[in-house]
Amino acid sequence: MSQATVIDGRSLAAGLRQNAAGIAACLCEEIGTAPGLATVLVGDDPASRLYVGAKARACAGAGVAAFDIRLPAGISEAGLVAEVERLNRDDRVDGVLVQLPLPRQIDPHPVIAAIDPAKDVDGFHPANVGRLWSGAPGLVPCTPQGCLLLLGTVHEDLTGAEAVVLGRSNIVGKPVAALLLAADCTVTIVHSKSRDAAAICRRADILIAASGRPQMVKAGWVKPGATVIDVGINPVADREGRRRVVGDVDFAAVRAVAGAITPVPGGVGPMTIACLLRNTLLAAYRRRGLPDPRL
Ligand code: NAP
Repeated sequence: MSQATVIDGRSLAAGLRQNAAGIAACLCEEIGTAPGLATVLVGDDPASRLYVGAKARACAGAGVAAFDIRLPAGISEAGLVAEVERLNRDDRVDGVLVQLPLPRQIDPHPVIAAIDPAKDVDGFHPANVGRLWSGAPGLVPCTPQGCLLLLGTVHEDLTGAEAVVLGRSNIVGKPVAALLLAADCTVTIVHSKSRDAAAICRRADILIAASGRPQMVKAGWVKPGATVIDVGINPVADREGRRRVVGDVDFAAVRAVAGAITPVPGGVGPMTIACLLRNTLLAAYRRRGLPDPRL
């Protein structure tokens, strides 16, 4: 049986990071200071700590200054908003990222709305969400941007393709649907109240799996030859108790049906961080009135 092409997110992301490093160096030469990204971590959720650490390492590798802000889990919403406003005013900071999820006592919406849209490198501010859906230039969420770049390695043109997005979160599902629509796909979004998710997914030329359900997408959900992008990151333990990470797609089974597929790990994950660097550089250039760099 033929096997799908495995799309290598690691090598694509490495190239993007290298390119970002060159652009960061150019900007540094031009303005005499490195572009900067501030990450704000509230509390000590281990997964969030891991993500923030990876982002700081990627910054260091690309010559972007990392400002690592750690705040206590018990901080108030007003206290967090004040910290965000301080970073908005800090001229060394080009990008502000508040790591989600936040502790229960904090409503994320006012916190995200407090970020200067010009520094909103996650692309979650309502102004950037509106720009994305209306086709105006803004900052585009990193994981969805990564998905489109991965698709670009196998599809020159997505015009008219039937795209199905499994999941409708503000972080992944909705923005990836907006990008696919902008690329002239016919887009369907499947969520937990959809009837017969499998049948809808089986229509897809392009299937984006972002349900947060380990290995939910089975071989029978996939049209032969389809391209499958697996956004999922699910820590699981096997029968021997060994911990590993699986996606939202049953990779081994789907690989035998799909035309191309991203692995987990090594697919979307590395692209998210590479796109965060891209957004930080875009923000740095635009804040200074410079034309967009070639990212
Ligand atoms: P989320 O906020 O939990 O959203 C999951 C979405 O899937 C929801 O819209 C939900 O529908 C839908 N869903 C859940 N169960 C379903 C079912 N049985 N049938 C149909 N739809 C179902 O998750 P997220 O933040 O979007 O993340 C999705 C996955 O991507 C997770 O595994 C996460 O860890 C991963 N992730 C990876 C990256 C990366 O860098 N690779 C970045 C972000 C997230 P309802 O809206 O109806 O509840």
